[in-house]
Amino acid sequence: MSAQTAQLAPNLATTTVQAECTECAGAIRASVALPGEILDCGDCGAELEVRSVSPLTLALAPQVEEDWGE
Ligand SMILES: [Zn+2]
Repeated sequence: MSAQTAQLAPNLATTTVQAECTECAGAIRASVALPGEILDCGDCGAELEVRSVSPLTLALAPQVEEDWGE
């Protein structure tokens, strides 16, 4: 006699955005995209920065070269 009901609603509340990788033209999906967010391309591994949300525009994120050691 459980009053609990599993509410497995379709993912209507989750907005999935999709954009095209500027490097390999692969599809990049993200659950949410915020300006300035970095999305990783699953195909080529490029890091793409969200420049605009509507429409979704991605640009290759500047490579941050870290100096390891001296
Ligand atoms: Zn790519």
